[in-house]
Amino acid sequence: MDLPQEIIAIKRDGGHLSRAQIEQFVAGVVSGAFRDYQSTALLMAILLQGMSDDETAWLTEAMMRSGRVVQLPEIARPKVDKHSTGGVGDKVSLILAPLAASLGLCVPMMSGRGLGHTGGTLDKLESIPGFQVNLSDAAYRAQLGAIHQAMIGQSADMVPADRKLYALRDVTATVESIPLICASILSKKLAEGIDALVLDVKCGRGAFMQTEADARALAEALVKISAGVGKPTTALLTRMDQPLGNAVGNALEVMEAIDCLNGAGPPDLMCVTYELVAEMLRLGGRCESRAHAQQLMAAALQSGAALQAFRELLAAQGGDVRVLDDRTRLPAARHHFELRYAGAEPGYVAELDALSVGEAARLLGAGRAHAEAQIDPAVGFVFYKKVGAAVAPGDLICRVHYNSSAKLEPALERLRAALRYSRQPVAIAKLLIDRVAAV
Ligand code: URA
Repeated sequence: MDLPQEIIAIKRDGGHLSRAQIEQFVAGVVSGAFRDYQSTALLMAILLQGMSDDETAWLTEAMMRSGRVVQLPEIARPKVDKHSTGGVGDKVSLILAPLAASLGLCVPMMSGRGLGHTGGTLDKLESIPGFQVNLSDAAYRAQLGAIHQAMIGQSADMVPADRKLYALRDVTATVESIPLICASILSKKLAEGIDALVLDVKCGRGAFMQTEADARALAEALVKISAGVGKPTTALLTRMDQPLGNAVGNALEVMEAIDCLNGAGPPDLMCVTYELVAEMLRLGGRCESRAHAQQLMAAALQSGAALQAFRELLAAQGGDVRVLDDRTRLPAARHHFELRYAGAEPGYVAELDALSVGEAARLLGAGRAHAEAQIDPAVGFVFYKKVGAAVAPGDLICRVHYNSSAKLEPALERLRAALRYSRQPVAIAKLLIDRVAAV
């Protein structure tokens, strides 16, 4: 056993930590043998000096094993999950899980809550009356066996090292380290008992990684580490410069996800969903080619099989299935405001800044500024024009769904700042930038 200060000094001086030293650190974080000031000193040393692939893989495995690791040997289907690094209007999981389950995969999805300008899958699901995101281990396993999908929060006994380390990183400017991000994301996903993983690494104004170079570096590191610990993994690099789909806000996003499962989703949202599900089907051995995956997905939407799978998910987790046919059963805001194009001449939407839209949604009450804050499931935005769309004077750009007049003005100010118009037509960048797989 080394003293914590000896381990810190090795990394401070640019050295290589052994597997035993990394395991000692992670165990010490959970037990308290590493004091917070020692943990944060090591985190800062890692941020400044980096980690080798071996060190990152050992850190990932030690964090994953810091709590309960789910094993699902009783599930015969390929168990494949998706993780997104987070964005604005990203309701892909709500469409992807039932679609993939309807096509022969098992999707054991554990998700998080929204923080800051990004939304969280659990908050969206909880806007469905009755929906339970906390299941006992027995109920979770029984549900996976019966309907091949579950969407829950991670229980407190899983990956405690990440909970502790993430809270320390958040307040010590040590979030932005690729080895630490990789270990944090992958320890949580690998503890789910999956066979393979698809990652949506977002890049752009509304994303965790703003530049393509940073997003690519993260995607490459995630794929290498995950594949290195024996889980076939692909990362898709996708753009997050403007919100994904038209709806931003929890119940509004559930409505849009239902539209998608009815075959009436917006093209950008469907494009990202299709790409991710196709990759899941490929890794799970459920399709022969991309064209085959495309056919399977189109058929599952057209036949109603994907929607039926979502109905089963809601029924299994206590959600009111009547929302699928009657949207008025979802929380609705009391007031609406129509934001219209105020220009005197026709033009085009040139920018709809995802970060500002996410912040505007948070100001309205759709998101939280700190982990304990309450959210309002009903409020948010529905966009009628996005980047590239032609606009004429007076056109409706966005309908704002709000409950508090005091919150409307600050949110509108931020929303207006998100929009920029041009007299010239605007090119729309391709959403899928690249696919990164292990070599
Ligand atoms: N998301 C995580 O779960 N962990 C990180 O470190 C960053 C993003």
